[in-house]
Amino acid sequence: IVDPAPLPEDEEGRVEAALRPKSLAEFPGQPRVREQLSLVLEAARRRGSTPDHILLSGPPGLGKTTLAMIVAAELQAPIRITSGPAIQHAGDLASILSSLAEGEVLFLDEIHRMARPAEEMLYLAMEDFRVDIIVGKGPGATAIPLELAPFTVVGATTRAGLLPAPLRDRFGFTGHLDFYSTDDLRTILRRSAGLLGVDHTNQGLAEIAGRSRGTPRIANRLLRRVRDWAQVHGNHVVDHDAAQAALALFDVDDRGLDRLDRAVLDALCRRFAGGPVGLSTLAVAVGEEPDTVETVAEPFLVREGFMVRTPRGRAAAPLAWEHLGLTPPPGEQW
Ligand code: ADP
Repeated sequence: IVDPAPLPEDEEGRVEAALRPKSLAEFPGQPRVREQLSLVLEAARRRGSTPDHILLSGPPGLGKTTLAMIVAAELQAPIRITSGPAIQHAGDLASILSSLAEGEVLFLDEIHRMARPAEEMLYLAMEDFRVDIIVGKGPGATAIPLELAPFTVVGATTRAGLLPAPLRDRFGFTGHLDFYSTDDLRTILRRSAGLLGVDHTNQGLAEIAGRSRGTPRIANRLLRRVRDWAQVHGNHVVDHDAAQAALALFDVDDRGLDRLDRAVLDALCRRFAGGPVGLSTLAVAVGEEPDTVETVAEPFLVREGFMVRTPRGRAAAPLAWEHLGLTPPPGEQW
């Protein structure tokens, strides 16, 4: 329930679409990125040209897709949405690029996962609005240049460091999204509760905000589960009691840690005496894939100071012992 990636269920997609802010003015949080984007877009509008390509980086669920849609809306331009993993051949990209209308926004989610040949085609297209279509094979192959209408790429990545430098350099502006403050999450939840027609109290929303790991997608998801609880067991109001009971039912504790987070900390402290221990050993101990531990649990645990990454592996920070009600062994921890 606290996985920041979207769940593969239709309801989540539909609700998310309904809850997305539609303009920069309506978008709570990320004041710096909002101001930077607003400047870039306004300047382009005044020049009457397409803006520079835009890269949005940051963990999942913080609003990259939402901002890409807002960019298109602010430019009053159509948007085409695709993702790195969906483009495995340069031909896939060529057909998308050649069908873009003038000024269209091309949103490339998970741009770091695009196949190499497509990536190289994208550099050229972003720089010169041109693609070279290769016809034939071997020594007889020829490149036929194809002019493209000017467009704006909005790329999103959770791993800006994985983007090859030539691709990163083609973006005139990079916005770094950071985790949201509890106050901003409360604002987002208030807006979402209004849109979903959910009765609520400030304490109820504050309780959810405090357990949402700085992530709007998680906040909105927890709100829906608390609403469910309030409808079935409560008085139809998302209040403090409903939030506490529902989040306890879904194993989300008062710091926003879920079952997996606690299992990781528990393994670190009890089985490995605080660590350090390698990621794959830790993952086996909690019965999960290393990738899940690394992308779902670890960023939050490290950011909140429960866990540290050392050159020799993962280790429990003092806060982990405290949170589990355990006493750390005496002496140096890692
Ligand atoms: P990402 O692309 O970074 O994974 P999304 O843009 O898909 O994240 O956002 C996930 C969900 O969180 C969407 O339902 C969106 O409405 C909501 N959301 C994200 N950022 C905000 C924000 N600043 N204000 C309100 N809702 C937000």
